[in-house]
Amino acid sequence: MSVLRLAVPSPLRQLFDYLPPAGTSPELLAQLAPGTRVRVPFGRREVTAYLIGVFPDSAVDSAQLKPAVEILDTRALVSGALFELARWAWHYYHHPSGEVLSALFPKRLRDGKPHQRGGAPAWRLGTRGKGLPEQALSRSPKQARALALLRADREVTAKEFEAQGISRAVLRALRDKELIEPCTVQREPREALCRDGLALNTEQSAVLQELQGAEGFSCSLLEGVTGSGKTEIYLQLIADCLARGRQALVLIPEIGLTPQTLGRFAQRFDADIAVFHSGLSDAQRYQSWEAARDGSAHIVIGTRSAVFTPLARPGIIIVDEEHDSSYKQQDGFRYSARDVAVKRGQIDDCPVLLGSATPSLESLQNAALGRYRQLHLRNRAGSAGMPAVEVRDVRRQPLHAGLSPQLLEDIQATLDAGEQALLFLNRRGYAPTLQCHDCGWVAECNGCDARLTIHRRQGRLRCHHCGASSTLPASCPVCHSRSLLSLGLGTEQTEAFLRQRFPDRALYRVDSDSMRGRDAMAALAEQINRGEPCILLGTQMLTKGHHFPAVTLVAVIDADALLFSADFRGEERMIQLLTQVAGRAGREAAAGRVVLQSHYPDHPLLQAAREQDYAQQARRLLEQRRGSGLPPSGQLLILRTDCPDARYAESFLRDLREATEHRLPAGCSYIGPLPAPLQRRAGKFRCQLLLTAPSRRDAHHAATLAVAAAEGATAGRGLKWSIDIDPQDMF
Ligand code: ADP
Ligand code: ZN
Ligand code: ZN
Repeated sequence: MSVLRLAVPSPLRQLFDYLPPAGTSPELLAQLAPGTRVRVPFGRREVTAYLIGVFPDSAVDSAQLKPAVEILDTRALVSGALFELARWAWHYYHHPSGEVLSALFPKRLRDGKPHQRGGAPAWRLGTRGKGLPEQALSRSPKQARALALLRADREVTAKEFEAQGISRAVLRALRDKELIEPCTVQREPREALCRDGLALNTEQSAVLQELQGAEGFSCSLLEGVTGSGKTEIYLQLIADCLARGRQALVLIPEIGLTPQTLGRFAQRFDADIAVFHSGLSDAQRYQSWEAARDGSAHIVIGTRSAVFTPLARPGIIIVDEEHDSSYKQQDGFRYSARDVAVKRGQIDDCPVLLGSATPSLESLQNAALGRYRQLHLRNRAGSAGMPAVEVRDVRRQPLHAGLSPQLLEDIQATLDAGEQALLFLNRRGYAPTLQCHDCGWVAECNGCDARLTIHRRQGRLRCHHCGASSTLPASCPVCHSRSLLSLGLGTEQTEAFLRQRFPDRALYRVDSDSMRGRDAMAALAEQINRGEPCILLGTQMLTKGHHFPAVTLVAVIDADALLFSADFRGEERMIQLLTQVAGRAGREAAAGRVVLQSHYPDHPLLQAAREQDYAQQARRLLEQRRGSGLPPSGQLLILRTDCPDARYAESFLRDLREATEHRLPAGCSYIGPLPAPLQRRAGKFRCQLLLTAPSRRDAHHAATLAVAAAEGATAGRGLKWSIDIDPQDMF
């Protein structure tokens, strides 16, 4: 007897045994590899499951085993190495294996559709077409000619037919008669070509020399100030990798994957580049996936999930802006693409390069412990120097939409000098609070513990946590007064003011409201890069990865909004953000400057930002973390619940704590359960139980206990629980 042991995509953390479909040959069974897709009945549905292995027997009585419906692939579509990576991930993140394996496949294959090789769409003779006498189609000369072409040349691409003047209608008619059938032809794998890179400066050359020619696994951390030419290093390493006939995988943060970035790769390489981002259609994603898998793509660039792309010949893995929090998936399968990338390098036995101007404390710690090689670029490439940073006291200053008179003068002077100004305000909408001046009523979300943001232009109130929205009221729903106040500041308001103040100047607002679709940002970047004087006003979206050569003034309108955070990573994030924002100033010849507006000009974090010494700040923060046992000194994990019943959300975690606490490894301890910082979201109450552990091993052990206890408990009452290993945010 043979049993298929399968990972089924479901929240259950267990494997399921099935019998092979009736009539499966022993030869096929013997060659089935892990990761092979198998269609099986599951509950009342049929689902695509993934093979873990073929076993001689099952713990389940064989009479109870159901047969699988179909083995979907005769050869596994993912390599043994990628399957190994998935296995590591489901153990490490304590996530159900079926869901982790699903993450390796594009939707079409997850849905159980047949695998189709990549390549150009083409046609070939069907069985009926092969048997047809030469003269059979003499009444339709075009159809006859198409058939003749197919007889001469077994597969003919749609493009060739087009060139021969044979329309699609003709081919469709032949297909309807079942004389021909569609297929794809493999493109000839081509050699990637690389154009000359920039002549490197001394620092860059030293770094490249260290990294070049490395084969086999190693992990390096490249800490290079903004504009120091890290990307140039990536490009030259990739050239090196392509020359060895291998593929390069490049990960980029969510908002860093701009057409500008892609343009730089496309300019440098005459090569096939497979791109992955959230804006792709399923068909495009499938194509990219297949090109990476069959090896025809030389370079794979993508956001977080691209770390699981199959590669035929992995040669190097690069993670740009490795500190960026978008590498952490915040729901479902909560993995860190950066950490998975390092593991992948080990399994694929290829070098990994992490780059950032502001490396995460985790990576700095790994470098300090000798696990990563640390490399530095301390100066800007080319002629640009670092910008001067000024903390500006706005106490007692008249502020217009958040802007002090002095900042308005600076903007004016920048524009007059023919340069561009970039203003950072990390809050979209018009204002974060709507309040009644007569009775004090405040507009709040029905489902969340949060205020609604005013979006004046759309005439709506929106919740930025759950997405709920309603019409902006003209009067107070409680006392019917019409004097409603907009409190606080958002980009829409500052935009309105700036338009009044600088009516003849170009002004671009960049946030997720104004930039819908990827093309919007591409068009804008092109506009900005023409270099004409303008004002850029935006949220985080403006701060990362962009290279705007004519920006010389950068201002943080409300630095105070960044200063106070409940999260233990708050300070680290703030210093990273300020460094990245400041890094947009003066990236080319003209000197840049940075203004931070604050009511707390003496705040140590702002003074630190002024000194622009990230390394020193990071050392200080690492010291603090050593004191508290928080990451990266200790390990952290969070068990979360959400439930319509607030008390149950908490008691579930309390029970879990009680059931496991006495068995935790030494040095591990629980904190909580505590309400989440945003306790109610979209009608659910949210609770957290934190666990700190002295080592990864202990954390893993503790997590195993906690997950077993949670799985054993009957949840009910609409309660959902999850575990987050190495959490990035307490939210
Ligand atoms: P980073 O990725 O570190 O932010 P970039 O690679 O984007 O830096 O480089 C910043 C700017 O400096 C770009 O305009 C780039 O073309 C330029 N640059 C990089 N390396 C050199 C070099 N060796 N010589 C001249 N200019 C360079
Ligand atoms: Zn009122
Ligand atoms: Zn809400």
